[in-house]
Amino acid sequence: MKFSKNQIERYSRQIILKKVGIIGQKKLLKSSVLIVGAGGLGSPIAIYLSALGIGKIGVIDKDHVEISNLGRQIIFETNDLKKSKSAAAIRRLRKINPDIKLKSFNKNLTKLNINQIAKNFDLIVDGSDNFRTRFLINDYCLKNKKILVSGAISKFDGQVYTFNFSKKSSPCLRCFIPKMPSNPDIDNCEYEGVLGPLAGIIGSILANEVVKEILQIGDGLCGYVLIIDSLKLNFRKAKLNKRSDCYCNEKK
Ligand SMILES: [Zn+2]
Repeated sequence: MKFSKNQIERYSRQIILKKVGIIGQKKLLKSSVLIVGAGGLGSPIAIYLSALGIGKIGVIDKDHVEISNLGRQIIFETNDLKKSKSAAAIRRLRKINPDIKLKSFNKNLTKLNINQIAKNFDLIVDGSDNFRTRFLINDYCLKNKKILVSGAISKFDGQVYTFNFSKKSSPCLRCFIPKMPSNPDIDNCEYEGVLGPLAGIIGSILANEVVKEILQIGDGLCGYVLIIDSLKLNFRKAKLNKRSDCYCNEKK
């Protein structure tokens, strides 16, 4: 792969970083990331990953843009109301960076379609809003030894996880949340509320973790959960151990 002059200019501020460089930028352009959910988290994740040149990005979401989304889902504008979220997101991303491949999936991720959709991507970022999808993605990535970067937000609090299932020692989401909650389809943002900038903070950290995992730079978050209290401005990394009685041990 040879860079055009335009590409070198576009990515120049990250190419000059020693830990990125030309080789790192090529790695980013050769990588593929599936973003699950074009919502509060999916918006900043998709915008940053497109802008910095992830070579192939997929966005999956079945919903349509509603007016209550616009307070935090910054990938959309008022003109997008009632339009398909995945398609509207891709249109915006294409404007941000016409240099990359973009694919929208206007559907929910399910047991029946996850293999077909996710097999074309190296890494999955979970910005979904319900536990049924979170568990589904966890189990898929575990089985296929993929890296999963995952985030959650509610009210003023957020969490970030990275599971690198190519490592035997990696815990999984079920180690942390052993049982699917009794209301797995409930969207907490809808019932408990959330402040837009928190979605931006957590989504930006998720995008940053994706880049770290692809380039294998810095300290990976695998084995920890990052817990953020945006009111107290506390950022805390807590150890997240693999549970010996968890489902993920049976699968190894
Ligand atoms: Zn586990």
